[in-house]
Amino acid sequence: MALPARSSYVVVGAGIHGLSTGYHLAQELEARGLGSGADIIVLDKTGPGAGASGIACGVVRNNYFQPAMSELMQACVEVWESDPAAYAYNPVGYMALGPEAQEADLVEVHERHERIGYRSTMVTGEAQVDSYMKALFPDWRAKGVTACLHEHQGGFAFNMASVMGLVGKCEAEGVTILSGVEVTELEFAGDDSVKAVITNKAKIEVGEQLVIAPGPWAKQFWALLGLPDHIDVRTPSGEVVLDRPMWTYWNLQEGEITVDPSMFCLADGGAPPVIHLDTDAPLYADEGQLITDELWGIYYKRDRHGVQGGASPLVVGEEIELDPYPSTTNVDPGYPDMWCAALSHAMSRFEGCRPLYKIARSGGVGAFTVDNFPVFDYMRPNVYAVLDSNHGYKMIGVGREVAKVLLGDHSSLLYPFRYERFATGDLHPVSHSPYPWS
Ligand SMILES: Cc1cc2nc3c(=O)[nH]c(=O)nc-3n(C[C@H](O)[C@H](O)[C@H](O)COP(=O)(O)OP(=O)(O)OC[C@H]3O[C@@H](n4cnc5c(N)ncnc54)[C@H](O)[C@@H]3O)c2cc1C
Repeated sequence: MALPARSSYVVVGAGIHGLSTGYHLAQELEARGLGSGADIIVLDKTGPGAGASGIACGVVRNNYFQPAMSELMQACVEVWESDPAAYAYNPVGYMALGPEAQEADLVEVHERHERIGYRSTMVTGEAQVDSYMKALFPDWRAKGVTACLHEHQGGFAFNMASVMGLVGKCEAEGVTILSGVEVTELEFAGDDSVKAVITNKAKIEVGEQLVIAPGPWAKQFWALLGLPDHIDVRTPSGEVVLDRPMWTYWNLQEGEITVDPSMFCLADGGAPPVIHLDTDAPLYADEGQLITDELWGIYYKRDRHGVQGGASPLVVGEEIELDPYPSTTNVDPGYPDMWCAALSHAMSRFEGCRPLYKIARSGGVGAFTVDNFPVFDYMRPNVYAVLDSNHGYKMIGVGREVAKVLLGDHSSLLYPFRYERFATGDLHPVSHSPYPWS
């Protein structure tokens, strides 16, 4: 298809955020009598789902310690629930299980769920958690768990299927999605707004606004926008931490065991929630050797061909070659042993699962901001950035909010994620979780 010379709204990146923005913006333009999907193009250097959205584990949950994340996630779950078939969404729920050190955080999260009307159950006390879990999974045997937050909403979605669901919704609204079009440069006007994007194919003039939703390629666009790669960060106490890297890459470690998926089911045979287990109980392989006696954690879900999940990510650093994506680097060679031992620690049905670990490329790299939370903001007068710090497959509702902001509304859900917070010290609270996105 020939490239248009101009488009009112140019969206870069056909992942969950770019596509959700395209779809919801088309709806908003139509509803307000301001235009339609024909005013929007979505560009992707490869194609829909070629970035992190196409390989995400797909977990959708609201176990967030930060009030702003929790409220935004509630809006996102609403979008997932609006069309489970198109989004390939499995509303099986989500369970976060943790040791004493995480109990207070989980209780606080649960209290907020109650306030905002997000359905969840909180169980505390080692014996109580054990019997709650055994009622769901009779072979539950994890140790050192004193808190369980059971979200009755959330669950997971199938990554590429949900991306293609959004592609269908965009196309039905008349949005044009162009694959194989790489943005290489931005052409600025005197007021710092972007006049045009230069691509590997041709130049496209930006009539109204440019949205960048480049996922792990955030740092490249940060540079194209002329933004600093290191910044000073004011903390809530007023202390200023100097010269912090704006972007750091982490490697997400994930894997899968090939089993009959139905072996992972509830006591009544139903579909199991996604499980996230953190504990400080020593972790042993089935053969008896100690794997770790420090805090460890895993997450896992029933997948199409087995059981899939991951563990804590590893820091890669400030530089990485992302292409061809997904680049996987710095993977801990002990990861399959750890993840399989942890599955077996949690439930005896997984005992002896190590030989079933699938040897395949798994996981991938994400780009994290300086405080590990998203930046959703105008970074130039007509350039809105959707940079989710790798939180974001679950954040399908961000595009709905961005669409409103592009048309002049204020979004109280996106406001806490403005870039200015690093200068003002208006940062998000930090939990006791070992993960950079909790
Ligand atoms: C292994 C892994 C597991 C994850 N699991 C989960 C999970 O379970 N739940 C969850 O909520 N999140 C998860 N995440 C995070 C989540 O996948 C990302 O936060 C989210 O998908 C980012 O979406 P996006 O639309 O911003 O970017 P992407 O999906 O990465 O899309 C960006 C697109 O931009 C395109 N692009 C880049 N540069 C250019 C350019 N110059 N010109 C044109 N196009 C360009 C790319 O080709 C790509 O298709 C996971 C991430 C990884 C890596």
